[in-house]
Amino acid sequence: MSFEVTILGSGAALPTALRNPTAQYVFCNDRHILIDCGEGTQNQLRKAKIHIQKINHILISHLHGDHYFGLVGFLSSLHLLGRDKGITIYGPEELEQIIRLQLEVGGAQLGFSLEFVPLNGKEHKLLFEDKLIEIWTFPLKHRIPTNGFLIKEKEKERHLDGDKFKRDGLSLTCIPKFKNGEDVILEDGTVLGAADYTYPSKKPKSYAYCSDTIYTENIIPFIEKATCLYHEATFLHNKLDRAKATFHTTALQAGMIADKAGVQKLLIGHLSARYENGQLHESEAKTHFQNVEVVEDGTIYQI
Ligand SMILES: [Zn+2]
Repeated sequence: MSFEVTILGSGAALPTALRNPTAQYVFCNDRHILIDCGEGTQNQLRKAKIHIQKINHILISHLHGDHYFGLVGFLSSLHLLGRDKGITIYGPEELEQIIRLQLEVGGAQLGFSLEFVPLNGKEHKLLFEDKLIEIWTFPLKHRIPTNGFLIKEKEKERHLDGDKFKRDGLSLTCIPKFKNGEDVILEDGTVLGAADYTYPSKKPKSYAYCSDTIYTENIIPFIEKATCLYHEATFLHNKLDRAKATFHTTALQAGMIADKAGVQKLLIGHLSARYENGQLHESEAKTHFQNVEVVEDGTIYQI
């Protein structure tokens, strides 16, 4: 089982030669998720050799164009490539109207269904779960309603200590209970402890995504102890006034949030086009949080 994030776009409102508008592809325990879909996302997916037909969850943080202007093109390409499996899009309520109108005026009829799940940028709630993963949303603080996302692995089954199990000649019927961490009580009252026949699996990992937001500690309860936090860092701290006016964050502030939330790793991106590279962002964030990387388009990060 792997958990990785491919950065498709790490720029802000204005694309540059090196940074596309925002989009990320998350592969988590065989689930395929696209987060945001700025212009050019489908080209970036192709360059990264990602099997786009496997994507069946799309999460859109907010309706500033650099986070969704690539969506209708991406959906159209899925259709042209013969898709018939439905796709679920979680995003601001108006998104459904926008996408359906864009398709309708062009006379496009997709060969697959679109299910829109409206988000209002105000709630912390579970959007999706299956036996392997959960997807949560939580509110960010931006100029328009904006949703953060948290993708986390479910608690995994305990591993069986096969040698000990065989040595003690236990019945196979004990295995499911042991794997769930439950003890088994035999007819004669003997208790077989799950902890004696299993060992814990790896701790579930989580990835928190904070696209566009002003510095706010209100998000800490939602991202606390995440294995990896992606947080925007549009500006350097000498542009704090500009960051505040546009409801964005500085690299220094992103480091502060990572530190206060006790996450293991911080990725920063959404860099303003005014910056040629992210070196200063990295050193600024490091004044508060050491384990930080400025993301680059096309790079895969293991969670
Ligand atoms: Zn925005």
